[in-house]
Amino acid sequence: MMSKLSSIEHQASSIRHQASSIKHQASSIKHQASSIKHQTPLFLPVFEYGNSYVTIEQLENQFDVTALITNAYFLYKKRELKLAVTEQNVKNFLGFGGLVVTDSGAFQQFSGPLYLSNKKIIKFQRDIGADVISPLDIITTPGDNRTTATKKLNATLKRIREGMALADPAILIGVQQGGRFHDLRGYALEKLMEMGVKYIALGSLVPFFNRNHDIEFIGKVIQQARKIIDPDIPIHLYGGGDPLELPFYIFMGCDIFDSSSFIHYARGGWYMTPYGAFDVQRNTPASLPRTCECSLCKTDRKEVWENEKKLALHNLWTIQDVIREMRMIIGRGNRLSEYLNHVTAIHQECFPESRLAGSWERLCNNYRDFT
Ligand SMILES: [Zn+2]
Repeated sequence: MMSKLSSIEHQASSIRHQASSIKHQASSIKHQASSIKHQTPLFLPVFEYGNSYVTIEQLENQFDVTALITNAYFLYKKRELKLAVTEQNVKNFLGFGGLVVTDSGAFQQFSGPLYLSNKKIIKFQRDIGADVISPLDIITTPGDNRTTATKKLNATLKRIREGMALADPAILIGVQQGGRFHDLRGYALEKLMEMGVKYIALGSLVPFFNRNHDIEFIGKVIQQARKIIDPDIPIHLYGGGDPLELPFYIFMGCDIFDSSSFIHYARGGWYMTPYGAFDVQRNTPASLPRTCECSLCKTDRKEVWENEKKLALHNLWTIQDVIREMRMIIGRGNRLSEYLNHVTAIHQECFPESRLAGSWERLCNNYRDFT
């Protein structure tokens, strides 16, 4: 049987530490049996059916979006949506021809019981024709102690093992758990490799974002993951969506990101730039470190500053633009570290209280433990 899978062409990441410099070397990954390839790094905007901020046409035509993530549980729980999406398949239903990644609803477990089984939601994602699908993993909070984190990790591994037999022709995401314990996270990855997963996502890191750009913990998780995981297997950082931080994660070996940050930031009145997000109430367009080249800002920058919906679109453009720039730098074999130094310098000048530079320095030192 022909696989209908799209493939993910992974262009990332082996990292070497040479003398005093760290080099990121792009290597390419190929995926089996398929015609469509997706270049990494790749950003998957969160798209929910009925979303009023951005349409599929806009994503495809204005933002060059070739891949997105959508919540399968949302489609599953409403009877009429479930029927429609099962009948038409998810790509026809959304009107989107690119790579479709689905989320299982694991995150919604926080808002109440789901009455959902792992098997059912995996089969549903497979049957609606999603390309990359998620198990119902069990989220660990940073406050979970070692015993709880271990239990959640083992239960998640069990669900992934159960899903591996059901996923084909989709790719099942091997979700890493382990909470704040690096050794547990390492153990999770070793088990996932033994199971033969082809796609890894780093789970339960969302609470570690927004700590005034202290990227140390997340960075260590990525550094460890890249060391354990086969270089051909893409690593997805759930919830990564700050255009300031993404290049650092890419440098360390992360390939795929997803987020609805562009909407959340706009709701909170934050204008994204590659150097950090600026509060529209406390800044003016003239105070920015760089002029934005998106069509909205070029047409009427003041309007973007005042209109939440336009601000969301500007934010999405900014994320995509940073991803484009990363691909260009990696593709040309240029040194990403120069970009990071440049961004850090401007960012720290605009936000002197930020923890980015300090945490980044600690991460660079941490590479010495690896080599
Ligand atoms: Zn703009």
